Amino acid sequence: MAWDFSTEPEFEEKLAWMRSFVREEILPLEVVDLEYDTFRKAVAPLQLEVKDRGLWASHLPPELGGGGFGQVKLGLMHEILGQCSLAPFVFGNNAPDSGNAEIIAVGMESSGNESHKEKWLQPLLDGKLRSAFSMTEPGAGADPTLLKTSAVRDGDEWVINGHKWFTSNGSIADFLVVMAVTNPDVHPYQGSSMILVPTDTPGVDILRDIPTMEHPTEHFGRPGGHSEILYTDVRVPYDNLVGREGEGFVLAQKRLGPGRIHHCMRWLGQSKRAFDMLCERAVSRYTHGSVLAEKQTIQNWVADSMAEMTAARLMTLHAAWRMDQVGAANARVEIAMIKYYGATVLYNVIDRAIQIHGSLGFSTDLPLEHMYRAARAARIYDGPDEVHKVTVARKLLKDYKPVEVPTEHVPTRRAAAQRKFADLLDAASLNS
Ligand SMILES: Cc1cc2nc3c(=O)[nH]c(=O)nc-3n(C[C@H](O)[C@H](O)[C@H](O)COP(=O)(O)OP(=O)(O)OC[C@H]3O[C@@H](n4cnc5c(N)ncnc54)[C@H](O)[C@@H]3O)c2cc1C
Repeated sequence: MAWDFSTEPEFEEKLAWMRSFVREEILPLEVVDLEYDTFRKAVAPLQLEVKDRGLWASHLPPELGGGGFGQVKLGLMHEILGQCSLAPFVFGNNAPDSGNAEIIAVGMESSGNESHKEKWLQPLLDGKLRSAFSMTEPGAGADPTLLKTSAVRDGDEWVINGHKWFTSNGSIADFLVVMAVTNPDVHPYQGSSMILVPTDTPGVDILRDIPTMEHPTEHFGRPGGHSEILYTDVRVPYDNLVGREGEGFVLAQKRLGPGRIHHCMRWLGQSKRAFDMLCERAVSRYTHGSVLAEKQTIQNWVADSMAEMTAARLMTLHAAWRMDQVGAANARVEIAMIKYYGATVLYNVIDRAIQIHGSLGFSTDLPLEHMYRAARAARIYDGPDEVHKVTVARKLLKDYKPVEVPTEHVPTRRAAAQRKFADLLDAASLNS
């Protein structure tokens, strides 16, 4: 029997250290308004401590400079880091750098181009470079086969032209992972490639960080900004190709699988944080003759939230376990399922936590309103809910064949059973 829900004691010790480190050293920084450069300097000693503990960049295998913990352990770690948006940066596995490091690593495996390790991957893992993933275009999002950005080979160079938006961290990145059509004569699944583009290359024009529900005021050049970028005759070396020509979608799948589930793992931490606030308020606030904890509606919120969070946690860890067993490509359904389920749980728990706090919950005196605004995007980025549901439903429906009469049709089953057991039934009725 291999069923097990326990964590081995040595690893539990690491998790316990992470819990207190995040609570004591990182969470307090959340409420100090630091400029990006000051923040980087402020967390540098914390990053060293994480490295000393062997917990830096734990999403990658040791040969690529990571801790090589596998997805299940990573899930348990991300659950802790997800409580605070600053924590992944301190642990060297923040999005989108973590996913981009994976793309470059997988691309190197495919192309054998080892030079990418020293030039891009290692500095990215060391936190010396920052990156962004530039795929979505104003006219092509959920359906990336509509991408228009092109990269044409000219001697030893690529010439890139296109218009991207929602490139997260684009305005603070040192380089961009650009998805472009490199062969328009075949299906986009075979004709698209990923190319590394330093942000200071002539022709890269970062127009703005798009104000969003999460960051409504336009503010250029800070982490979490979503950049709109024009690429006009951008020339980079041919060698900047990730993987091989035409492999863009294969690499995207390899990146987006782990990237998606890492979000789901972090959402567990966000949901738990909101849940703790919900419960604390329930036992603290007195109104209409009792504390809120004694009202049945509130008890329903507590019970429903815990059930949904537990389901999301088990689904996340199960998807992670499947990835460890059979790889991300073969765990597509599990990953897609937790992506939409986890995003909804996150949203619902935060929503209830806001509601129980009333006006205080709506105010910026609590982090809930910001958590809520950020959570709304979870149902859109890395593929909207509806598209993941299509993936799940299509895969599941493949196991079913059309029938004229439902398999469970009782009269038909009764007739079949009577035929099958005719002798037995005859004998039984003679004996009675
Ligand atoms: C906060 C945030 C960060 C992001 N970061 C990045 C990034 O770093 N890099 C990057 O390249 N992109 C990024 N994106 C873009 C993101 O990947 C896209 O928003 C997403 O893929 C959806 O594309 P779209 O916005 O163009 O929506 P559309 O493609 O226009 O889809 C709109 C809606 O149509 C519906 N829909 C679409 N297809 C179907 C279908 N088959 N069946 C039923 N309904 C459907 C869904 O409700 C969907 O929400 C980010 C987005 C957000 C919000």
